[in-house]
Amino acid sequence: ALGYNQAVKENRNLYNMLQEVRGNIRVYCRIRPLNSESISSIEHIGNDGSIMVCDPFKAQNTRKIFQFNKTFGPTTTQDEVYMETQSLIRSVMDGYNVCIFAYGQTGSGKTHTMCGPSGGLSSNNLGINYMALNDLFTISTSREDMKYDMRVQMVEIYNEQVRDLLSEDTSSTKLDIRTSTNGLFNIPDAKMCPVQSPSDVMNLMLLGEKHRASGPTTMNNRSSRSHSILTVHVNGKDMSGNVSCSCLHLVDLAGSERVDRSEATGDRLKEAQHINKSLSCLGDVITALAQKNSHIPYRNSKLTQLLQSSLGGNAKTLMLAHISPEGESYVETLSTLKFAQRVSTVELGTAHANKESNDIRELKEQVDTLKKALATKD
Ligand code: ADP
Ligand code: MG
Repeated sequence: ALGYNQAVKENRNLYNMLQEVRGNIRVYCRIRPLNSESISSIEHIGNDGSIMVCDPFKAQNTRKIFQFNKTFGPTTTQDEVYMETQSLIRSVMDGYNVCIFAYGQTGSGKTHTMCGPSGGLSSNNLGINYMALNDLFTISTSREDMKYDMRVQMVEIYNEQVRDLLSEDTSSTKLDIRTSTNGLFNIPDAKMCPVQSPSDVMNLMLLGEKHRASGPTTMNNRSSRSHSILTVHVNGKDMSGNVSCSCLHLVDLAGSERVDRSEATGDRLKEAQHINKSLSCLGDVITALAQKNSHIPYRNSKLTQLLQSSLGGNAKTLMLAHISPEGESYVETLSTLKFAQRVSTVELGTAHANKESNDIRELKEQVDTLKKALATKD
């Protein structure tokens, strides 16, 4: 068993090294199946991650090509998508912060990718959220050289308010976000649930799903107007006492479609404004990181505040851009592809595992003790 563990470890180290060479932001594009009786705007999907689109209703066809790390066509299965994200997810166990977010207009398949068909856990076509946690459990039980502790939080951001999806008190909508350097306890007041098995996870997800569907403002399709965030906190300890702590954020973003301002009023307009703001903040943060600006505008939205530690230089980020292939959706498709292209040109420094060797930790503890001793002397 040790030999196997060693091989797995070396394989992952190799992957982590490769990833560091390539930069830390990946962009994958996923196209869901075409609704019958529609004409597709997708002209070509390349094996190299490229995609060619055109407006099928324009007499003068202008084709546009975009390039991503991968592009998944409409026949791609959930398993195939997971296979391509697995090593990234697994690097959480080595102390890396990882953020995966699903972007795209409502109906493009974000929830399908993250949770499963119709966002339900009832099928066997489960999404990344569940497969990721299942996978992390498998690793944590198979590794003899490490001891892991995993805890889960689930929140949604709706109209710039953070709501705990795991608390029975679903009226608590105004949770604070606090930023800590290691990315842990970002929302100290949101329920933190220890998980010991895949069935624990399944139960929490079902609870979260139930709460998400029954928010304080119940309305049709409400979930497509909020961001939902599943966070997994992982603490690892190896034989010699070295600790690592990291977190994995799995984010199903609100629909990116533009709402016609002349038609939207009241609540609908307010929602649209909040969504537009938070998604454009996300773009701004990523661009600022790309340009290595000294000021990164994390604080401009709750979403970027929350994801801060998983977007900066010390993290690995994957954007899953979702496309509806119908010609009628061409304008939104183009806007998603442009946003994704902007994100994919970003190179975020080098990711480091959040590891502290035993020596460093002991030294820090000594420093703390000495500081306290000094303080009491005054
Ligand atoms: P979003 O969360 O982006 O609003 P959904 O995930 O709810 O979109 O998808 C809209 C519909 O399309 C759902 O009925 C979903 O099951 C279906 N769908 C989305 N992606 C796929 C896919 N890759 N294969 C089959 N059906 C899909
Ligand atoms: Mg959805």
